[in-house]
Amino acid sequence: MNNAQKSVTVIGLGPMGRAMVAALLDRGYAVTVWNRTASRADELVARGAVLAPSPAAAVAANEAVILSLTDYVAVYDVLGPVPAADLAGRVLVNLTSATPEEARAGARWAAERGAVQLTGGVNAPPAGVGEPDSSTYYSGPRETFDQYRALLEVLTGRADHRGEDPGLAALLYQIGVSMFWTSMLSYWQAVALARANGLTAADILPDARETADTLAQLSAFYAERIDAGVHAGDVDRLAMGRASVEHVVRTNADAGVDTALPAAVADLFRRGMEAGHGEDSFSTLVEVMSKPAA
Ligand code: NDP
Repeated sequence: MNNAQKSVTVIGLGPMGRAMVAALLDRGYAVTVWNRTASRADELVARGAVLAPSPAAAVAANEAVILSLTDYVAVYDVLGPVPAADLAGRVLVNLTSATPEEARAGARWAAERGAVQLTGGVNAPPAGVGEPDSSTYYSGPRETFDQYRALLEVLTGRADHRGEDPGLAALLYQIGVSMFWTSMLSYWQAVALARANGLTAADILPDARETADTLAQLSAFYAERIDAGVHAGDVDRLAMGRASVEHVVRTNADAGVDTALPAAVADLFRRGMEAGHGEDSFSTLVEVMSKPAA
């Protein structure tokens, strides 16, 4: 794509899609949009985007079609009725969250219609779209990625191609999101416990930040040992961790705070103890978590 062809279609105008269209318009792209709820396009149309009357018309408008939908059910709902002949030759930049298997099936579905899917996993909230430091994992054909790199770098400053497997970007994205959801919930738990004891989120923010920094340091420390298969109980012991987690459960219960999350953590410690790892590091729980619960 050269400068004269700065033209793209965006399907899906949730917070992400709208932020992407805005970033593209800011950078001088001609943008055709389609969304199930047409009114979400109003502001963007006022800024110069063109609202296509149907998904087929949106696909027909450009070779590059960005998909920013809730899930792949929505992708098939929207693109399923588009004739295969209209999809042929299109590059579907699919930034819709999915499992790796769903992403691979999506790439096959596109290939059956003569289209190419580039899978993307955006590592930024809508406010990060268009920012130089934000990034997106991509996987799929390298050649297609290179051809559209300039466009992709408008969406997030860094476009990070990780490999040809269309499922890879989805996998890396889900690994990050897995950590994101559980970590953020651990923070909500901390805030709930603080509030139940008369402290505000702001009161505990400096301590929460320090804990988050410690997590980053410990991740680096344990990564090396885990990859080497070392779970020695030299710096911590699972048995110690189990006692500590029980105090966490009881402190939350005493404060009248929901204990679902700490109880789930305590259950994993219990399983580690039952597997005979009490004298090992609590990193041994990686091995427990690598197998489904009995
Ligand atoms: P939303 O779920 O808010 O909106 C996505 C779009 O999907 C909307 O335009 C919605 O249309 C459309 N949609 C959903 N179901 C259907 C359907 N069955 N048929 C047609 N259209 C449908 O998502 P976001 O904009 O927040 O995010 C888009 C993608 O990016 C998601 O996969 C998300 O996981 C991912 N993502 C989001 C981040 C965020 O912080 N928001 C961060 C990183 C990735 P309508 O307007 O009509 O409801």
